[in-house]
Amino acid sequence: MSRIASHLADLQLQIVKTCAKRRIFKHNVRLVAVSKRHPADSIREAYAAGQRDFGENQVQEALNKISQLSDLDINWHMIGAIQSRKCKDIAQHFDWVQSVDRLKVADKLNQHRADSQAPLNVLIQVNLFGEGQKAGVDAAACKQLAEAILQLPRLRLRGLMAIPPKQTDAQAQYAQFEQIYQLYQELQNQYPHIDTLSMGMSGDFEQAILAGSTMIRLGTAIFGQRD
Ligand SMILES: *Cc1c(COP(=O)(O)O)cnc(C)c1O
Repeated sequence: MSRIASHLADLQLQIVKTCAKRRIFKHNVRLVAVSKRHPADSIREAYAAGQRDFGENQVQEALNKISQLSDLDINWHMIGAIQSRKCKDIAQHFDWVQSVDRLKVADKLNQHRADSQAPLNVLIQVNLFGEGQKAGVDAAACKQLAEAILQLPRLRLRGLMAIPPKQTDAQAQYAQFEQIYQLYQELQNQYPHIDTLSMGMSGDFEQAILAGSTMIRLGTAIFGQRD
């Protein structure tokens, strides 16, 4: 078994165990392998081990890999900051965009998503802890943006994505994730088709799952350290 395959197998087991600790069994947890700054060959290795969702944060780097791996049936997730001039490439080549945080970007993605393609899955990136250096909207802006995105026919609003501040203490991690989960539930009460809460990375995914995450994004834990 390759190193990447063995990491994936260990992580799948850890995910199942963590889900079992949770009192509410509403969702399965979907694993997005964050392959940024790792080569296409590593993605192939993970794919051979059954992994289908991959996340990238740079458009040009992603487009190179998407073209090198066009023989594989991969779901590509854009998880990085979005420049509006890149919206055309993103809309045409990705399956999910997790980092939508303003209407201008949503409009452009909608405009460039071809009719021949399935609607683009989008998540609103939220930033509930006032971290100025990170992208994302607060709770009030999130609700407005959700309403606007629902009017765009080429986009399918699936939920929220968050990158809360790094905490080493598990309880502090959980408390932050719980706060994001509350907002997710409010949104879901209003729009019942919403089904995705993307939160949790290599250092904190267990607490994220315990707090109600439905999608985790792991890079280092699968592929090792990035350069
Ligand atoms: C890099 C990145 C990840 C993965 O981080 P790891 O700590 O390597 O698991 C997850 N989400 C986003 C948005 C990222 O940019």
